[in-house]
Amino acid sequence: MRARVYLFDIDGTLLQTGGAGWRALTGAMREQFGVQELAGIELRGRTDYAIVGDLLRIARVPTGPQSRQRLLKSYHERLCAELQKGVGAVLPGVWEVLDRLCSEPQAVLGVLTGNGLQGAEIKLRHFGLQERFSIGVYGDRHEHRTDLARDALGILRQQVGADLEGGHVCIIGDTPSDVECALAIEARAVAVTTGGFAGEELVAAGAHLVLNNLTEWPR
Ligand SMILES: [Mg+2]
Repeated sequence: MRARVYLFDIDGTLLQTGGAGWRALTGAMREQFGVQELAGIELRGRTDYAIVGDLLRIARVPTGPQSRQRLLKSYHERLCAELQKGVGAVLPGVWEVLDRLCSEPQAVLGVLTGNGLQGAEIKLRHFGLQERFSIGVYGDRHEHRTDLARDALGILRQQVGADLEGGHVCIIGDTPSDVECALAIEARAVAVTTGGFAGEELVAAGAHLVLNNLTEWPR
């Protein structure tokens, strides 16, 4: 039986952190590098690798592994603490879609996220979602999200089936970058407007299907 793979973005697609991620990041920048002001940094759809690179350049410190680890360690500690305040939520329809897909015998569920592995695990674990996914592709090493899609295809061919093609994969996300990433491997691109991008922007990016939220997932 041919596998059908569903790869979900995290922020703005499965859940929203209610600003916990942003507060953790700005807190870490203040603590580690004394940087007070971070307005104008775009986070949506980007990889942690790219975001951290930008932040370190703002802090005028080298962008090598040592500074990255220093910033990320502080960020992860703060992220746990911020999430504990209970400000975030799993987005509408997520549990239902995951339940339905889990009941499809040929379905493989994973995350494809700009978050690094540790940040992704903190968020998924906090909301009790981590057990739902057997595959993960994370933004620790790549500047561009399209490279995550190529990694995903490699992982899937090793773990699911050597003949797996992009056409067997559906990538669900909330930004034009998620759509672009799906199209890069000829996967199906499902976009949700729960992350702040308008439906028109997601259609213009090439999404095959745009939903107001995951309660509209087709039967
Ligand atoms: Mg997102």
